[in-house]
Amino acid sequence: LTDLSGKTAIVTGAARGQGAIEAELLATAGASVLLCDVLEEDGVALAARLGDAGHNVRFATLDVTSETAWCAALDLVRDWTGRLDILVNNAGIINRKIIRDMSVDEWRKVMDVNATGAFIGLKHAAPFMAETGGGSIINISSNSGFSGHYDPAYTSSKWALRGLTRTAAMEFADMGIRVNAICPGLIVTDLNRSSPHLAPMINLTPMHRSGEADEVAQLVLFLASEGSAFITGEDFVIDGGFTA
Ligand code: NAD
Repeated sequence: LTDLSGKTAIVTGAARGQGAIEAELLATAGASVLLCDVLEEDGVALAARLGDAGHNVRFATLDVTSETAWCAALDLVRDWTGRLDILVNNAGIINRKIIRDMSVDEWRKVMDVNATGAFIGLKHAAPFMAETGGGSIINISSNSGFSGHYDPAYTSSKWALRGLTRTAAMEFADMGIRVNAICPGLIVTDLNRSSPHLAPMINLTPMHRSGEADEVAQLVLFLASEGSAFITGEDFVIDGGFTA
């Protein structure tokens, strides 16, 4: 059983969807977890529920595109537990417009949240992590980060996250920090519930089903733990064979 007692984690986009399940699993393994999201009401409610279940969690309103907000969240963790061991850059948005329909501002918004948000987070988190012995950073990319789909901004942002993962892994290795990416396939959440592509994607998946948020969370837990101590700079596709 993975034991994260004494460790502190930050999970972004943790108010709902996969981030909520990832945060709960890390907390169940014993970590103190700061749930971060722009959805304040949902985040506060989830933190209260997890707290009632005996977990050591807090919620902070954090827009990952704001450097000021990132610094405030890291200060909160510094005052709360005094250490940071795990950062899960999970927050993400999608815009399915094709290139000819998409404005430059719409493109920038997706790149900002999905790629720049993770950059700001790991840029400020890494020095703090290094102070208390290093840690593990996990970027939630997508199997769209391996192929071209009809969502150019989303796909580009997820390829960018893989590039950021590799370069950060090289830069931070001497600081005792590992950086890996997880590239899930279809997991039915609020991000895609209304998408017309669900059934075709399941048809094209050799395992003929969508994935479960818990299956992604189990990989987050492994990459956060000592069991993955020699793994860095990698991306892990978890999509029932879709990309294979
Ligand atoms: P979701 O929409 O349920 O959750 C995303 C969360 O990110 C939400 O709580 C949202 O409020 C938060 N968020 C959005 N913008 C933010 C910002 N600026 N700052 C902080 N938080 C913000 O979707 P999900 O499926 O749980 O997605 C989680 C991650 O998994 C995303 O990065 C997504 O791209 C990735 N992903 C999802 C799938 C899938 O099929 N659902 C597949 C591959 C990758």
